[in-house]
Amino acid sequence: DEDLALLEGDLDDKDFDGSGRALPVLAVVGRPNVGKSTLVNRILGRREAVVEDKPGVTRDRVSYPAEWAGRRFTLVDTGGWEVDVAGIDARVAEQAEVAIALADAVVFVVDATVGSTDTDEQVVRLLRRSGKPVVLCANKVDGPAGEADAATLWGLGLGEPYPVSALHGRGTGDLLDAVLDALPEVSAHGVVLPDGPRRVALVGRPNVGKSSLLNKVLGTERVVVDSVAGTTRDPVDELVELKGIPWVFVDTAGIRRRVHQTSGADFYASLRTQAAIEKAEVAVVLLDASTELTEQDIRVVQQVIDAGRAVVIAYNKWDLMDEDRRPYLEREIEQELVQVRWAPRVNISAKTGWHADRLVPALERSLASWDTRIPTGRLNAFLGALVAAHPHPLRGGKQPRILFATQASTRPPRFVLFTTGFLDPGYRRYIERRLRETFGFEGSPISIGVRVRE
Ligand code: GDP
Ligand code: GDP
Repeated sequence: DEDLALLEGDLDDKDFDGSGRALPVLAVVGRPNVGKSTLVNRILGRREAVVEDKPGVTRDRVSYPAEWAGRRFTLVDTGGWEVDVAGIDARVAEQAEVAIALADAVVFVVDATVGSTDTDEQVVRLLRRSGKPVVLCANKVDGPAGEADAATLWGLGLGEPYPVSALHGRGTGDLLDAVLDALPEVSAHGVVLPDGPRRVALVGRPNVGKSSLLNKVLGTERVVVDSVAGTTRDPVDELVELKGIPWVFVDTAGIRRRVHQTSGADFYASLRTQAAIEKAEVAVVLLDASTELTEQDIRVVQQVIDAGRAVVIAYNKWDLMDEDRRPYLEREIEQELVQVRWAPRVNISAKTGWHADRLVPALERSLASWDTRIPTGRLNAFLGALVAAHPHPLRGGKQPRILFATQASTRPPRFVLFTTGFLDPGYRRYIERRLRETFGFEGSPISIGVRVRE
């Protein structure tokens, strides 16, 4: 399909709503107080620190779109959360480990006025093991006098230390130039392996039952499959055969490790969730049927949608569900989970195993939608009929026309409409609704981009 290939070559990210993009990911890691948040704010061009005065405050975002010298990337911010004084080393290392796993390149921030500490050395070991490109930031070098301090950081064995004052901006340009050299054009995380077993992430807030579900799944059906073609196995992942088909459950070590109720745990959980989602093709979002939906639940759902992954909603602890609560639950779903009303929902009990067998069929349905490609001819016939029945509202006497449409990618399905003018958001939503009614897409986010032809 030559036309289509031409169009695809012509597309870029700004054509899309932000789902499923594969911009390279840069993580900023380091001990508390070395200046990570200050640096992140500097890179994002924010004036004041977004970081609240109180450390440990839960932030709902861990990554931000960033740009330097015309290149765009995703910046993962690990600053601004409190670490217990006891066990500080372990916590910093854990945090760094997740951030590194998520990243295509890392900026490692060290306080040059302090020099390297044992904790720094521990992070260095993690960085080495990861094999990811690292740019060493010697921060708090506010003037030339500090350059000598920075030079001592050659001793970390990570190459050239870039002397920087995140606070005043000194040296950040050189640092970012080095970052761009280290970052690949496209994220390795956005590229989903076309072959091999499907990759599943079990996500949800702490205590929702992820580890119970994992045990149930592994306990009843586990078959050790050693040599499945196309499998690149990470030790934190688990390969399981379910109903004769191998699946990879990603980041299961993180589920088992169970970091609960410590300060910064929410943020940590959020980062962990993000890493798991990025590695997976489909996410099972676990919700607790016995209690009210929380902000954190909704955030996890949004993380999956934003990442452009297929979704299954699993209402767990159904055995604890009080029948009196049932109507409230349904209303909660309608009101607070509208953004995923297209996702298949299974009611399960990880504890008793009730309905656990419904998980795989739901996963398969979501993944099938995620893979769907609508042929260009069919898509345009569909849009032609849609526009004829329900034209775009007039705007200042004019009416934007849809000239042509194509599906630019699958996983998830992304559509691009070529038009004579911008489409109202309401009309775009209408198109999405009709697309879903007509073609399904159960369990997959879809996005619609608009390109205005001058
Ligand atoms: P984080 O915990 O690593 O995110 O560190 P923050 O960004 O919160 O910074 C910790 C403290 O160091 C704050 O008081 C910052 O103002 C200060 N700081 C950060 N960068 C610099 C710098 O380049 N020079 C100086 N003098 N102070 C800095
Ligand atoms: P995680 O933090 O998401 O991994 O949650 P866990 O799997 O550790 O579960 C947290 C608690 O909820 C544990 O006490 C589990 O026994 C309990 N739990 C998990 N699933 C169910 C369920 O389906 N029914 C009931 N009654 N309890 C459950």
